[in-house]
Amino acid sequence: MENDIISTDVAIVGGGLAGLSAATYLARAGMDVTLFEKSNHLGGRAATQEHKGYAFNHGIHAFCYGSTGTRVLRELGVTYRYQNPRGVQLYAQGRFSSAPVSASTILRTDFLTTAEKMEFVGLFTKIICTKPASAGGQSAREWLDREVRNPHLHQMLAAFARTLTYCANLDLMSAEVFLQRVVLSDVRYIDGGWQSIVESLQTRATEAGAHLLSGARASELLQHGEHHIEGVRLADGRRVAARAVMLAITPAEALKLLDGESYEPLRQTLAAIRPVRVACLDVALSCLPAPQHAIAFDLEQPRFLTTQSLFARVAPAGGALIHTFKQLDPAQPGDPHQDERDLEEWLDQVQPGWRAVLVKRIFLPRIEAISLLPTAHSGGLAGRPGVQVPGVSNLYLAGDWIGNAGYLADASLASARQAAHLLIQHGLPAPHPQLATDGI
Ligand SMILES: Cc1cc2nc3c(=O)[nH]c(=O)nc-3n(C[C@H](O)[C@H](O)[C@H](O)COP(=O)(O)OP(=O)(O)OC[C@H]3O[C@@H](n4cnc5c(N)ncnc54)[C@H](O)[C@@H]3O)c2cc1C
Repeated sequence: MENDIISTDVAIVGGGLAGLSAATYLARAGMDVTLFEKSNHLGGRAATQEHKGYAFNHGIHAFCYGSTGTRVLRELGVTYRYQNPRGVQLYAQGRFSSAPVSASTILRTDFLTTAEKMEFVGLFTKIICTKPASAGGQSAREWLDREVRNPHLHQMLAAFARTLTYCANLDLMSAEVFLQRVVLSDVRYIDGGWQSIVESLQTRATEAGAHLLSGARASELLQHGEHHIEGVRLADGRRVAARAVMLAITPAEALKLLDGESYEPLRQTLAAIRPVRVACLDVALSCLPAPQHAIAFDLEQPRFLTTQSLFARVAPAGGALIHTFKQLDPAQPGDPHQDERDLEEWLDQVQPGWRAVLVKRIFLPRIEAISLLPTAHSGGLAGRPGVQVPGVSNLYLAGDWIGNAGYLADASLASARQAAHLLIQHGLPAPHPQLATDGI
């Protein structure tokens, strides 16, 4: 193995949504693309784990149609079956109310008075007319405190903001993310879980001619001079000679590959990045104790619950798959045991009796949902690194922490498209002469 050499135009490190999308765009543009994924399966955080007919996503996952990522999936011809959830509720002081998430539920809900409903509609109209990026430098808390005077509405919108941004600390989180996500009304639960998207992407990438290698961990970037990458070394010792390299991995993983002075500015940026983590408790049940409470926002604690199996095909007939999550404060170390107890208690409140019909549970403590927390201090999404590494001509980046478009998977897909297009536009640099004479 030690001296084996793989030669390719573009080496992509990371086989999640970003890596697979970028591979497809580049291969369609006629480039020879090889993708390296360290685990034995593709998909990264979008992968789904199957257990006796229950399709567990890697924690709670919903695709928001109409966002930048939608365009990418459409362009690449990715297909999936889905259902839109209905019957969203608010939970406060031990009782459930209909959540005002559509015209009919605004009219119907008993959570808001008529005057509050009018104020909410006015606020929502204002949000629709606001460019989210204009609020990048404000925190979600500042925005809410300024725009929402009514305490009842404030409590509800703060719960929406925490849930949509995945972050319990609204003083840190940029208002841009909340404003961008609160208007995305076409929420989709995917039949078979997000693995369906991964598999469709994988098919498109392979059809385009990309080579997808799993069980292949990149351990080092091979540098030629200060400003040029000549490839990647794999953990098993193989060398990959590439004319361009794209890292489609998290900042923490990227940091492990970057050694050398020319990366120093990027290393410093990566080392300072703070992720957004959540605690997830997912349960497969043989039946659903309280079908009338399918989806609930907790207005008093940073918790949310959804029974995806009531809408999408993610459980066997009669069974139920429930995802719960607790939004955490990125500034606090937290206590995973307490988080797990909080989520169990949340299930007790919404789905009493769940313990007696439990088939399987998966608890994911402090899992990285978003690789970079977009703070008001850093200007919101504009504060994320760009797709090209400054000072290194042929190194590109993609992922949920790259570029100024979108959030969560949306950002992974949008940055993959942007990085691929930039590389296509720049064209591949000539092969390194030393490597060429080596016959690679
Ligand atoms: C709990 C949770 C809930 C979420 N909910 C939503 C949601 O509702 N909606 C939404 O849009 N998004 C959601 N997301 C985010 C979404 O899953 C991610 O944004 C997206 O899957 C990230 O894709 P990626 O390709 O950028 O990164 P990843 O999925 O992290 O892929 C990176 C890949 O690189 C591989 N890798 C790392 N290092 C190396 C190396 N050295 N060599 C080779 N391979 C390597 C990893 O194994 C991984 O497969 C959620 C995420 C989590 C964790």
